[in-house]
Amino acid sequence: MENRLKPMDAEQLREYGHKMVDFIADYYKTIENFPVLSQVEPGYLRNLLPDSAPNQPDSFQHVLDDIQAKILPGVTHWQSPNYFAYYPSNSSVAGFVGEMLSAGLNIVGFSWITSPAATELEMIVLDWLAKMLKLPEDFLSAGQGGGVIQGTASEAVLVVLLAARDKVLRRVGKDALEKLVVYASDQMHSSLQKACQIAGIHPENCRLLKATSSTNYALSPEFLSETISQDLTIGLIPFFLCATVGTTSSTAVDPLLSLGKIAKSNGMWFHVDAAYAGSACVCPEFRHYMDGVEEADSFNMNAHKWFLTNFDCSALWVKDRSALVQALSTNPEYLKNKASQANMVVDYKDWQVPLGRRFRSLKLWMVLRLYGLENLQCYIRSHIKLAKHFENLIAQDPRFEVVTPRIFSLVCFRLLPVRNDESHGNKLNHQLLDAVNSTGSAFISHTVLSGKYILRFAVGAPLTEEKHVNAAWKVLQDKATSLLAESL
Ligand code: PLP
Repeated sequence: MENRLKPMDAEQLREYGHKMVDFIADYYKTIENFPVLSQVEPGYLRNLLPDSAPNQPDSFQHVLDDIQAKILPGVTHWQSPNYFAYYPSNSSVAGFVGEMLSAGLNIVGFSWITSPAATELEMIVLDWLAKMLKLPEDFLSAGQGGGVIQGTASEAVLVVLLAARDKVLRRVGKDALEKLVVYASDQMHSSLQKACQIAGIHPENCRLLKATSSTNYALSPEFLSETISQDLTIGLIPFFLCATVGTTSSTAVDPLLSLGKIAKSNGMWFHVDAAYAGSACVCPEFRHYMDGVEEADSFNMNAHKWFLTNFDCSALWVKDRSALVQALSTNPEYLKNKASQANMVVDYKDWQVPLGRRFRSLKLWMVLRLYGLENLQCYIRSHIKLAKHFENLIAQDPRFEVVTPRIFSLVCFRLLPVRNDESHGNKLNHQLLDAVNSTGSAFISHTVLSGKYILRFAVGAPLTEEKHVNAAWKVLQDKATSLLAESL
């Protein structure tokens, strides 16, 4: 059969592209009409779509109609102004058009030669961002270090763990793998545990040290030192410490300076995960939460969380890029080229797990250029102000309590247990979460701290204003009133 398909026809791109942009713009105009948390049941889509793909083409309009009728009901609206769950995953016009351009060019930039602009823009933009965060110069690309965009913070911690593992094994011999020990607090994101599993670190050598309310859930340097000493005594090899600025549960900030000194004196790699809170550190008044980062070997923040850069864009900086390259590089014949062979260029394939990589720096570049540092700082501050406002609302209602001190834009709170019955309190808060989320008018999430079921209210969606925070609080109060009446 004759090939009638013209998959990259410029005029069709123009037509569909314009229609799709209109569709998305209308989506944003009406986003508040959708339940924030999708209310569909598991398997809902199977009944709505045919069993197999069509033989003949469908019309674009028909597909758009299906998106409206069948797909959007199964979407949880992360960009809704009433979204307060987990951590935000921002989109913006700048991020969106950058992503669009990346999809339009659709290059695969694994080596410099495969698109010099992709590699060079990434180096430049990450140097810009490093300067905005006042990272030490060692992290800039002019020296031995540099930045790279990973898909996620999970990939970032994995690649630095692999670099650290291979570095220590070169020193102590590769048979010592079973003696290597990793340290973090038990508030560290689960991505470290996954990275250890992938890297072959023995599960019993992954020390997740208990952090308690006495340190506001930050890792205690004394506890770390003691644990390292005990491990050394029994012949183990401490090699990797991971600290967090803004933990996932409660935004705890580990004391980087003291932890970093301990890591250094024990010859360990020190990684700092600031996936969420890193964004806030572009504001001078929050930068001190990163103090001590000069002791770190690597630092990571997710521009796709709270920095207006559409998913995915996780910025990782290292002081010694050769450690990454030694752990991750391969040099097959079919990828050899003059620039790489002459060591004149960065080939980002050697800084990450996959070979192929997207042109992600475009969207970050767009965000930095189209918004500028001052606007980005105001954006962060506005969310922190709204979180403070929410905290004040809680403080005015004696039925609730704020559980940990609010640092950034996350408020951890709960409905106080009736008659001090903690286990009933846990159930009550779980019920409150479900009751609020099932209204579809706001979406919050939870965590458990010291055995207590806690509600998390994370401000950070780009469209959120004070009226949305007030409305969510009203829903929380109303649902709490009903639940408390039922439990009497
Ligand atoms: N680290 C922290 C502190 C996080 O809060 C998160 C996710 O919320 C992650 C790591 C994992 O992020 P990613 O989904 O980019 O792997």
